[in-house]
Amino acid sequence: MDRISPAQRSKLMASVRSTNTRPELAVRRVLHRLGYRFRLHSNDLPGKPDVILPKWRVAVLVHGCFWHHHRRCPKATLPKSHVLFWTRKLNDNRRRDRKVQRQLNNLGWRVCVVWECEVADIETLAEALDQFIRQRPPGIV
Ligand SMILES: [Zn+2]
Repeated sequence: MDRISPAQRSKLMASVRSTNTRPELAVRRVLHRLGYRFRLHSNDLPGKPDVILPKWRVAVLVHGCFWHHHRRCPKATLPKSHVLFWTRKLNDNRRRDRKVQRQLNNLGWRVCVVWECEVADIETLAEALDQFIRQRPPGIV
C-alpha cells in the first residue's frame, strides 16, 4: 500500500524527473566525445528536445524509462497501487511523445530517442548515436 496519494506521488516523481538529468548528461558527454556540435533544450521546437544537432537536423530525446513508459523495461514497472491512475497517466505521456516525434519529423528533424536504461552501456550508446546521426548526410538549416 502507498501511504501517499496519487497526486502527491505524481508531484514527488515530477520533482525527481526535473532534477535528475544524469542520462541527459551522459548523452551530452558522448556526443561531445564524438566531436558533434549540439544545442540544448530548444524552446522553439515541439517538445523542447533535450539535445539538437542543427547541422545534421537530428533531435535527441532522452527519455526516463518510468515516465515515458519504456515497453518491456524493468525500470518501467507500474506502481502497485492506483494502477488505473498510472496506466492512464503513462499512456498519455506516450501519446504525447509520439505526437512530438511526428511534429519534429514534419519540420524536417530526424528524431533519436535514447532511453535512460541504454545509458548504462556507454560504448553501445556512442556507436548507436553515431550511426543514427551519420545515416544521412548533413542538411542545410
Ligand atoms: Zn528502459
